[in-house]
Amino acid sequence: MNEAELLFSRVLNCDRVSLYLNKKDKLGAQSGALVSSVLRKRISGYPLQYILGKADFFGREFLVNESVLIPRPETEILVETALKIGLRLKAKGLRPDMLELGTGSGCVAISLAKELPGANVIATDISEKALGVARKNGRLHNVKINFVQGNLFNTHPLPFTPYHLIISNPPYIPSGEINKLQPEIAYEPRQALDGGKDGLDYYRRIAGQCSAYLKEEGVLVFEIGFGQYEEIEKILQKGAKLQIIDVIRDYADIRRVIVAQKVK
Ligand code: GLN
Repeated sequence: MNEAELLFSRVLNCDRVSLYLNKKDKLGAQSGALVSSVLRKRISGYPLQYILGKADFFGREFLVNESVLIPRPETEILVETALKIGLRLKAKGLRPDMLELGTGSGCVAISLAKELPGANVIATDISEKALGVARKNGRLHNVKINFVQGNLFNTHPLPFTPYHLIISNPPYIPSGEINKLQPEIAYEPRQALDGGKDGLDYYRRIAGQCSAYLKEEGVLVFEIGFGQYEEIEKILQKGAKLQIIDVIRDYADIRRVIVAQKVK
């Protein structure tokens, strides 16, 4: 469905086909007012997914509200990459221990838990409100995930440490760039987007502590922003005891996901 169809079918509580079958019908005063107010909101830049209260990600629907970042299509590459690694571990007879830092709506951790039954999945976020949404999504999709509040590795408890896999789509937009982006972004939690002056604060923080939380040969899977690859490579090489072993490009040919392995 396109945006207009989604909005109208949601507000009028009907399916797509009924919209067209009944297109000659006039809206009642109440429905008319509701449709106009929703359209005004959307035109002002308020994201469609917040109006609908849900977003699609990796073939599933997730609840979203203003406390969480709206899942992005390119983040599916992060899931695909982590999933491949998880499946390889399972093929070796291992039960993957995975940690996600900054889970937001929980869409990454939940997609992985669904695709890798038996994996131990821990997901953290600094925002209790975001965790509320993530837990609801966890129940909706019937997965067992430990959602724990904390600030990256300052999270207690962190069960199943050390991990085979640490996954993160951290905030990576440079602080000064956020206001220049599309209007929808202004409605999303700044905390989930703002990566500090150069956008790389969270990469430095995570890379600095990551090795201690990874098993031998464990890997870190990061989503990264446009043009950040070289700087992040430097951060990982500089004393982080991590070596990049894979780089995956997105649909726009931008290096979007990196895999770094713990070196001895
Ligand atoms: N990909 C998001 C955007 O460009 C940013 C997500 C993030 O900072 N992790 O809007």
